[in-house]
Amino acid sequence: MQTIMYKFLFSISIVFVITFAGCNNKADLYKYENGGVVITFDDHYVQKWLMADSALQKYNWKASFCLTLHNRLTDDQIQGLKYLELQGHEIAGHGLQHLNAIEYIKTNSIDNYLQSEVDPMIELMNKSFHNVTSFAYPNGSRNKDLDNKLFTRFKILRSTTNNSNPPEEQDCFFTGSHLVMAWGIDQSYEHYSKELLIQLLNYTHENNLILILYAHRPTKEISIKYQVEISTLEYICNFVEENNMKFLRLKDLGNL
Ligand SMILES: [Zn+2]
Repeated sequence: MQTIMYKFLFSISIVFVITFAGCNNKADLYKYENGGVVITFDDHYVQKWLMADSALQKYNWKASFCLTLHNRLTDDQIQGLKYLELQGHEIAGHGLQHLNAIEYIKTNSIDNYLQSEVDPMIELMNKSFHNVTSFAYPNGSRNKDLDNKLFTRFKILRSTTNNSNPPEEQDCFFTGSHLVMAWGIDQSYEHYSKELLIQLLNYTHENNLILILYAHRPTKEISIKYQVEISTLEYICNFVEENNMKFLRLKDLGNL
């Protein structure tokens, strides 16, 4: 009788482990009334970002623009970024030369990475914009040692997550940790679908969560890789407005 009982309990625990492995534990996620959305854009597509801003200002949207190759920008592009900052958006860091951190530290030290990719970027950015406090890893490429070093420079570190799992198995929600994962909404991503984006937004709102997204080039019509349609961004903004949700920037997460 005892053996049967043990077998029963064992089977129950196996079912429990299988059911909950890979699921985000909602109780561990940061609760934010009605839900919030962080939209981030990577690289240096200033003209496209300005175009998105003029289309979306009516929603009073806020985004974080994660900038790389600052040293190669034109004066017009710098002025454009200053304008975005004046509108309440964040200009965040994305590396001086867009080096892949993990590849780089295979043959260099992490201190070398800071000296060549991070510190000159901070110095340059702080001359043009508010002090930079958020950093998005190029290619989402990171490890724990890099995080530890970069947390001496930044309050928020952003990596990426690219899978088509249902919302309850995604890790693109804010947990309270200042290392965050963003889900890609460029149309060329294999994991991306409008249906899943809508599910993620609903899940965010229903469970009072904060969803973190990333994209590159806003466009009216998709023609190449790494583009997001303005209509997709407009859908997100509409959803946020209709459900009394909030736009947050990466730097706002640093204060939560
Ligand atoms: Zn990038």
